[in-house]
Amino acid sequence: MRMSRLFLRTLRDDPAGADIASHRLLLRAGCIRQVASGMYAWLPVGQRVLAKVAQIVREEMDAAGAQEMTLPITQPLELWERSGRNDDYGPLMFRLEDRKQVKFCLSPTAEEVITTIVAGELKSYRDLPVNLYQINWKYRDELRPRFGLLRAREFLMKDAYSFHVDVDDLRRTYQDMFDAYSRVFTRCALTFRAVEGESGEIGGDINHEFMAMAEIGEDDIVWCQKCDYAANAEVARRKSEQHDGGSADAELEKVHTPGMPGIMAVAQHLGTPEGELLKCIAFHLDDGVGLALLPGDRELNEAALRKAVAPRTARLFEDDDFAAHPGLVKGYIGPDATGVALVIADPLVSAPHAWVTGANEKDHHVRNAALGRDFSVAEWADLVAVVPGDPCPSCGSPLSIDRGIEVGQVFQLGTKYAEAMGALYTDEDSEQHPMVMGCYGIGISRIVTAVVEEHHDELGIAWPSALAPYDVHLVAITGKGKATGEVSEAADKLYDELTAAGVSVLYDDRDASPGVKFADADLLGMPTRLTLGAKGVARGVVERRNRKTGADDELPLDGAAEALRG
Ligand SMILES: [Zn+2]
Repeated sequence: MRMSRLFLRTLRDDPAGADIASHRLLLRAGCIRQVASGMYAWLPVGQRVLAKVAQIVREEMDAAGAQEMTLPITQPLELWERSGRNDDYGPLMFRLEDRKQVKFCLSPTAEEVITTIVAGELKSYRDLPVNLYQINWKYRDELRPRFGLLRAREFLMKDAYSFHVDVDDLRRTYQDMFDAYSRVFTRCALTFRAVEGESGEIGGDINHEFMAMAEIGEDDIVWCQKCDYAANAEVARRKSEQHDGGSADAELEKVHTPGMPGIMAVAQHLGTPEGELLKCIAFHLDDGVGLALLPGDRELNEAALRKAVAPRTARLFEDDDFAAHPGLVKGYIGPDATGVALVIADPLVSAPHAWVTGANEKDHHVRNAALGRDFSVAEWADLVAVVPGDPCPSCGSPLSIDRGIEVGQVFQLGTKYAEAMGALYTDEDSEQHPMVMGCYGIGISRIVTAVVEEHHDELGIAWPSALAPYDVHLVAITGKGKATGEVSEAADKLYDELTAAGVSVLYDDRDASPGVKFADADLLGMPTRLTLGAKGVARGVVERRNRKTGADDELPLDGAAEALRG
């Protein structure tokens, strides 16, 4: 492609409102342009990257036995009402009406549609399993679209859905998809981890998120330095030990802590470390009130609390809630507060310890509160948020926490959608059962963001070979004077030879200064830059620079195309 003809305008300066490197560089390199908040046009250079990611995904899905199809983006809302997810999605879903006032939505995902189609086509256990996928645009009406493609309202996804007679069969396909995902992200040159995600209705450690490691990521990933353990922070566990409590020899002692509802103020006032305090967090538990106990230097993992009390539901107290519960004194709650239906505690609270905690009376705390003597716990569960250095639940080694971008997810769905949409099969004994489903997503446009986050420097993008819009960026330094014609001629010839050899080339044939051309080559980030000037032509060589390493060498013009064929 000749740059003089390419629909491309690079930007010298950082665009306003682009806070992260990938957003900034994709705009500056002319890959994308914003059309509306969270909605982007893919311009020709960006389109080539998007297409390459999609093609890698397509190849790996096909190799794993999945079959490609295309579903409509506009979906009847009635299907979503049938599954109950119209309400679940709430304002996150774009909804519209046709001229007959029939309601539709723009697809945020496609379980309802695909399950309805499969229900109409497949009836027997002999038809299963089947694994279907599409690469298509998806929509979420995010409240605050941000970070460019990372949290966009329109995004390209690969979504796959598999249908099975039972869970064992689902797990075989699940493993195949897990392996295919690992190949996809490896081919895209991403540093990634497969981490345990929130359990589905089947339960167990069998739903995984694929995280591209990146500081700007929106998810915290807990991982073990020694073994394979890795999990989203929401569901991450630490190795915990259960003790019997007790061991406070001293008497319970009330202390005056005026105007100190916070852990830090009390700890400072009493001269004790925050970890000596017992935090008592009030929450609604269906009809009653619960208290969650944890050491004062730890934070509550709300997802862990919800999981611990399930199927009961937990909702943390807000300021207004305290008025209705006079037994709970905001900021001064003790573990023995009145009117509490459930006291649940993290095992850290079971260690022999004399706690400082609330006295259930405004402006007062108590010292020397002992488990078993002064308060009791009805249920134990891991409640604290994991912090770096906590012991790994598998091997006890220290855990680390890093940030990541979720680029894919594999999920065991069970029979929820099959039951809602009537996807039933008949077994060998002519009995009907709902199909068991899996679903598998990959964020294609998100991968582009993650790749740029990992592969860039202060000059611009440094595309990995597999995703680069072009293999080679050919810069002709035509300069002024009599050599101009010779250089252009030699560069034209090299461009033709490279193209004929199957090397894709972005050829900077513009009438621009070397400085402008080099700056654009660094910004656009093709893996190899070839520079041809008058001296090189005279000596019969072309300069080659590796964008990633900056290493320079020379190639003879004769045979350069063959050498770069790769
Ligand atoms: Zn470990």
